[in-house]
Order: sequence, then C-alpha cells, then structure tokens
Amino acid sequence: MTDRIPIFDGHNDVLLRLLNKKNDRAHEHFLAGDGEGHIDLPRAKAGGFAGGMFAVYISSRDDIGDVEEMMKGSSYDVPLPRIISSTEALPTALAMMAILFRIERASQGQVKVCRTAQEIRTCIDKGVMATVLHIEGAEAIDEKLDSLEVFYQAGLRSIGPVWSRPTIFGHGVPFRYPAGPDTGPGLTDAGKALVKACNELGIAIDLSHLNEKGFWDVARLSKAPLIATHSNVHAICQHTRNLTDRQLAAIRDSGGMVGLNFATCFLRADGQVDPHTPIDQMLRHIDYLVQHLGIEGVGLGSDFDGAVVPAEIGDVSGLDSLRSALRKRGFTDDVMRKLCHENWIRVLERSWGA
Ligand SMILES: [Zn+2]
Repeated sequence: MTDRIPIFDGHNDVLLRLLNKKNDRAHEHFLAGDGEGHIDLPRAKAGGFAGGMFAVYISSRDDIGDVEEMMKGSSYDVPLPRIISSTEALPTALAMMAILFRIERASQGQVKVCRTAQEIRTCIDKGVMATVLHIEGAEAIDEKLDSLEVFYQAGLRSIGPVWSRPTIFGHGVPFRYPAGPDTGPGLTDAGKALVKACNELGIAIDLSHLNEKGFWDVARLSKAPLIATHSNVHAICQHTRNLTDRQLAAIRDSGGMVGLNFATCFLRADGQVDPHTPIDQMLRHIDYLVQHLGIEGVGLGSDFDGAVVPAEIGDVSGLDSLRSALRKRGFTDDVMRKLCHENWIRVLERSWGA
C-alpha cells in the first residue's frame, strides 16, 4: 500500500515569506528548515510535499494593510490596492525569483525549477522537490511583454494576470463576502494580448483571482485548458474568490482543473479566517468539485504561507491528516494519485505543450 502519495500543489507563497525575512541567506534558511510559516525543505520532506507552483507576488500590505485583519465580521469588503507600474514591481519580482534560483543552486540537487512536465515527473520519482515558477499578479510584466519573454526563458511557466489589485491586463476580485465574482470589467486589450502570448510561449494562465468577466474573456480567447490554481466552490462559501457552477462547467469542458485552496476563509460557509476549521469542510469542497469537474479536474492548491489553513494540517509537515481524511472518504490509490499530483502534471503538460 502506497500510503505516502506525493503532493504536488497549485499554489504557495513561501517566496514572499522568505523575501520578508530581509536576509540575503533566506534561501539557506529554507533548505536548513527555519520552522517558520508553512513550508521549508525539511518539513516538506516530512509531509510528502513533492513541490508545486511557487508564486512571485508583489505585496500590497503597505497600501491597504493586513487583508486577513480586514476580513473579520459577518460580511466584509476589503478596498482594492492602487495599481502599480512594471518598473515599480520589477525589482521585487526579480528578488523573489532570485530566491527560488538560489534555493535550487544551493540545494545540491534536492530542489529543481521545472520547465516541462517530464521534469516534474522525474523529480517526483527521485524525491527531488519540483518547483514551478508562477507569477501571481502580472504587475512586473510590461505592456510590450518584453519581461514576459525574458521570464519565460528564465523558467516562468504560469501567470495569474491579476491578484486583487488591478493591473494593465485586467481586474481581480476584491476580497468580499458574501458576494459573487462578477465585480468589474473584463480583460483590457493588453490582457487579451497577454493571453495570446502565454498560449504561444506555453505559459499556463491562472484564473484564480480574476473577476468573472475576465474569466470569460480568458475562456473565450485561450486555447489552453482553464486553470484555477487555488480557488474553491462558491455554492459552499460565497466569497468573491470562489468559482460559480457556470465557471466550474467551463473549466470541465476545457479539460482544465481547480486546486483546492486550504485558506479557511474560502472554505467556511461563513467566510471567516479561523484555524479551527475541520478537514471535513475541505472534503465538502472536494466532493463538490469532483461532482462538477470529474476526478480528473481536481487537485490541491494549498496557499501555504499565504493564508490561514486548518490547524489539523498546521503546515506542510501535516499533510498526512489530509491524506488520511481522503482515505477515510474511500478514495483509492488511483484516485489519490490523480488528486495529489497526476492531474496537475497532465494539465500543465497540455498548457505548456511540453
Ligand atoms: Zn492567491
């Protein structure tokens, strides 16, 4: 019995956590294990975390404060941060990418930045952590897409055109509860050009923070499977960040997938940030996603180091609690492998063409 099925996951923010240490040895802390936040290498090994998409994200804390603090109360509506230019965002994006490349270089073969699906498979087979470079909120991409070309060559394989903050490409949903995702205009012309360029280069497009009009623009324009790397079910938790049944149907029809977000505010019916959220609540979303997308369309998208997750999991070393809950639910080894990593690898392979 293969109890420890490796988990390859759709989203984490460990690069932001490491950047915030403001320490030029942060990559060494990750490799040695700093025990802070949710992910470092020793705890990833302890939890059977095989890797995932590592996000580059430009924080807006200085503009609007702590989003989680503002998501208290029975309803909330966090204001949108101001738009920032690519020249303003670029140094931070480079700093976060550099942390990932330093981790890889100093890891002596324990961590790899993967550029093809085959590289992810080989890493998982050999027990090497497979990381995929992802941008969450394309602030660092200029309108001429010059930085996109360069980032692609460096290893970028996934982009969310927006986080919550608007970009020159489109509009993200504000953190609002209870509310639907139809919160503003769709993609700009630059956003449409970005979708086309990502299709041509073989960069996955992440729908997770896009508002509904932007979602439908990507659905209409993109030739790749529709992907939401870290989003949940709107019918269960009526947060702007979650997906409606119509969106789920479009994702299914495209052969795409959704990664289950562990953030308690997107799991709970009351939209609250609360670590005392049972794993059962995660299973409700998984069941619904499986019903609407089929088993091929569901994976994990933890949001580790970017969100408050259920205390029963705690951090990446606690992933066995999720595995055993899925086992109790009756998922077989075959199904577990799909949920835990195979679906991600297959869908990324189709998006990348490699
Ligand atoms: Zn996110």
